[in-house]
Amino acid sequence: MVDANCTLQLKRLKENLADARDKFLGYPVSKDFDYSALNQFFQYPINNLGDPYEDSTYRVQTHEMEREVVDFFAELFRANPKDYWGYVTNGGSESNLYGLYIAREMYPKAMVYYSESTHYSVRKNIHLLNIPSIVIRSQENGEIDYDDFENTLQFNRDKAAIVLTTFGTTMTEAKDDVSRLKSILKKLAIQDHYIHCDAALSGSYGAFMEPRQAFDFKDGADSISISGHKFVGSPIPCGVIITKRSLKDRISKGISYIGSSDTTITGSRNGHSPLFLWYAIQKLGKEGFRKRYQKSLEVATYCKAALIELGIPAWSNPGSITVVFPKVEEHIKQKWQLATEDEQTHIICMPNVTKDQIDAFIQDLQLAELTAVTPCLSTF
Ligand SMILES: *Cc1c(COP(=O)(O)O)cnc(C)c1O
Repeated sequence: MVDANCTLQLKRLKENLADARDKFLGYPVSKDFDYSALNQFFQYPINNLGDPYEDSTYRVQTHEMEREVVDFFAELFRANPKDYWGYVTNGGSESNLYGLYIAREMYPKAMVYYSESTHYSVRKNIHLLNIPSIVIRSQENGEIDYDDFENTLQFNRDKAAIVLTTFGTTMTEAKDDVSRLKSILKKLAIQDHYIHCDAALSGSYGAFMEPRQAFDFKDGADSISISGHKFVGSPIPCGVIITKRSLKDRISKGISYIGSSDTTITGSRNGHSPLFLWYAIQKLGKEGFRKRYQKSLEVATYCKAALIELGIPAWSNPGSITVVFPKVEEHIKQKWQLATEDEQTHIICMPNVTKDQIDAFIQDLQLAELTAVTPCLSTF
């Protein structure tokens, strides 16, 4: 039994978490999941250590579900059915590390190219792997500047190229066109190249965008990462990396202690998060994912229109559920937890964001505007 103080602290924690969750528009995590059917599995010390495709000596694991999660995303990303592999990671950052790791093992003397709008995890990963890199300019909308990419590449034609593209940048949800980048590599005859697509944010719904946008294996990617706790939703941060089996085989080493190949970044691996992702996939199916995306897009369109009506120059990238606009007053930023960078902020219309929440946010903006232009009102 725990003492009364402990119980009180837990109660307060729960209230704080629930309150913060309900006023949450600025970060890309879904909060509408119900995984209560899985509560029974908290009694087991699940550990997915080793390669999910191999039987290991440790059998308290969820490798079967993990493989089904990989299957689902490999199909969405149009991977070659005979040549894909992947695992459930601790998040998009680890997935990016894995993609870059394979790329470096293939081309140890390569140069990495990524745009200014790339997620901060990438810079750190490149540093950890000690690969030389060049930052490419971004366009105004956050998408990589293709001309700058081509010019920069031209000066380094003697080196293998690792291109880190982003499908859904952190601030503006911009998408780098993988097939366009691939054709630039081809034009410059750089045969030794590897493309890793960081689709942490938009990858889970990218396949449902109309018109299609180029980001997947058919478009030229060699590996793709996503975050599981963003669009899908999970109580524990998680991610997925999908790559080609033929590439992964180059870095695998058999470890007799675990009776499996050491093909993953960490040793012990979370065995509960594959279960959450698997359950979400079972419940929603591909059509459920599509509907979830369409609903988010509808709320984003609603949000953008409401902001424009207020005279705020809001905009969004094609197919994007992120609405970008100039930064707002501090108290509104704090209340709605709005990430702000370079004078810009955004609302990410994840599946749980409702039109009612958008209305409440718009009301706060209107009120702030009123008190700003008529100072006497602020005394109320
Ligand atoms: C969220 C995100 C990441 C990092 O993913 P984590 O799951 O937080 O580790 C990387 N890249 C992009 C574009 C992201 O949106």
